[in-house]
Amino acid sequence: MLLVVYYLALHHKNNNNNAEVSPVSKTDTVKTENKNDAAKADTTISIEYLMGKFNPAKDKSFTECDLEYANREGIYLQEETYKAFIKMFYAAKNDGVSLKIISGARNFNYQKSIWEQKWNGGRLVDGKNLANIVKDPVERATIILKYSSMPGTSRHHWGTDMDLNSMENKYFETPAGKKIYDWLCNNAAKYGFCQPFSALGDKRKNGYQEEKWHWSYLPLAKIFLKEYQKKVTYDHITGFAGSQTAKELKVIDNYVMSINQGCE
Ligand SMILES: [Zn+2]
Repeated sequence: MLLVVYYLALHHKNNNNNAEVSPVSKTDTVKTENKNDAAKADTTISIEYLMGKFNPAKDKSFTECDLEYANREGIYLQEETYKAFIKMFYAAKNDGVSLKIISGARNFNYQKSIWEQKWNGGRLVDGKNLANIVKDPVERATIILKYSSMPGTSRHHWGTDMDLNSMENKYFETPAGKKIYDWLCNNAAKYGFCQPFSALGDKRKNGYQEEKWHWSYLPLAKIFLKEYQKKVTYDHITGFAGSQTAKELKVIDNYVMSINQGCE
C-alpha cells in the first residue's frame, strides 16, 4: 500500500506537466506506514487527484480491468484495489458467487457529464426532467444527490471504489442478487472491502441513499478520505452546473464524510 501511494504521489508530481495548477504541493504531506510498521515515508496526495482531475487511462498507477472481472472494456482501478478485488473474486467464485465490476474509476469530467445531464434534463431522474419541474437549484441538487455525486466529490475518483453486478438495490433482493450481497457482507472485509453507503438511519444520518452495489477498498480509500477532509474545501467544488449549491448543502460534511461507520 505504501508503495502504491508513494508511487502515485511521485507519478503525479512528475507527469502532470499540462496541469494548470501543480497537482502536488510540497508542503502537503501525509505519513503512512506499511503493514509491518517497518518503513515510513512522506507522501503527497494532491487536491487534483482527490477531485478526480486526471485521466485514469493514462495514469500508470491505474490498471484496466480484465473482462473476466468486468462487464465491459475501459474500467480502471488503482492497481492495489484491482489486486485485492481479484483475490476476493476467486474466493467468491469458490463459493459459487460471481462478482462483476460494472463501474470503477470515474474522473471529474465523467462525473460532470453524468451530473449535468441530470441537472439539464438530458437524463431523467426517477422518470422526471428535473430542469423543467424543479426550478429551485438546492432542491434540484438534493434530488440528484440521492444517488449521484457532484463532480469532485465522488469516491469513484480515487480508483478505490467500484460498483458490482447491478446498480439497483432491487436486484440485491432477488435470490441471485441476495446471494451475492450476503456473500459480500460476510466476506468482503477479509479482502479490505466495505460498503460505504449503508442504509440511512441512526447509524448514518445524511448523504446518499443505500447502495448495495458500491464497495470500497479501505486500505487506500481511508487515506484518501482523510486527505480529502484536510485539503478539499467548498471553494474547490466548482466548474459545473449547480455547483453554487455545494456549500449550502454541505456536500463535503453531509455526503463525502457521511459513510458507514464500519468503513471509517
Ligand atoms: Zn458507486
